[in-house]
Amino acid sequence: FIIPDWAGFTKHIEDFYWTCKSNTEGKVASYIPQLARMNPEYWGVSVCTIDGQRFSIGDTSIPFTMQSCSKPLTYAIALERLGQETVHQYVGQEPSGRNFNELVLDYNKKPHNPMINAGAILISSLLKTLIKPEMTLAEKFDYIMNYFKRLAGGEYLGFNNAVFLSEREAADRNYALGFYMREHKCYPEKTNLREIMDFYFQCCAMEANCESMSVIAATLANGGICPITEEKVLKPDSVRDVLSLMHSCGMYDYSGQFAFKVGIPAKSGVSGSLLVVIPNVMGICTWSPPLDPLGNSCRGVQFCEELVTEFNFHSTYYDHRYDNL
Ligand code: GLN
Repeated sequence: FIIPDWAGFTKHIEDFYWTCKSNTEGKVASYIPQLARMNPEYWGVSVCTIDGQRFSIGDTSIPFTMQSCSKPLTYAIALERLGQETVHQYVGQEPSGRNFNELVLDYNKKPHNPMINAGAILISSLLKTLIKPEMTLAEKFDYIMNYFKRLAGGEYLGFNNAVFLSEREAADRNYALGFYMREHKCYPEKTNLREIMDFYFQCCAMEANCESMSVIAATLANGGICPITEEKVLKPDSVRDVLSLMHSCGMYDYSGQFAFKVGIPAKSGVSGSLLVVIPNVMGICTWSPPLDPLGNSCRGVQFCEELVTEFNFHSTYYDHRYDNL
């Protein structure tokens, strides 16, 4: 087993869980009623190792919408089907240093990276227009959902239509981003803006729970092979690129500090979920709706800090892996 003392390890996870549970900082997202109504008490942590050991504590089977946690997944599918070179003709790899929905493009008039709204809307256009363009929006929805399900090893994956409809109603900024990118000819030819915006909102409204999300994280930790089904869902090259950008851009405008302090690829979403990948070891999902001012789950960030204080998961921590090269 990759974690030999599983009982000892999970005891620590349990301790971190209880430590973070007493953290009552932050505010639940309020831009749509379905998120505003979320109980701030919800708190769950699920772990899945690359050899399939599982541990869950708290509210780990209650569904939440993926929101921005869908961004690394749609980016992964774009890389998988189109390759790095094509994808990055349209979107950059640089942290924006701005809010996740800031109305701003980089110096080449491209979205900064696929982990913020502009970049994810752009990725939606690539998925819709460049991959199997003959598919209708309905077929493309099934196609993407099926990919998400395979990443989750067939575990819980749903769609929240009320959230989808609310996202679309409360989307002035996202539409502004959509039009701004059309003005700058960011999209591939034949892109239908209304369709790709709907597609983006649909991806945000996909549902998972901590347990299924931890399997998705574990698939990413395992080079694209789902540890539960052993299906090869993504190529290692696609996963490498996804994790690189989660590392530098996954935590909104806290990404630099998070990379410095925690040093683990992660992606947060406004529903309070946090997808955490410890490459070659395990995937973790934490979920707690209250967010800090930058939009990251307060308990989720604290949990990651606890984790690296106890274990040397920071990716730049010195170890002896290369001693006999
Ligand atoms: N639905 C949200 C939006 O587009 C997703 C962003 C997020 O999770 N931060 O604004």
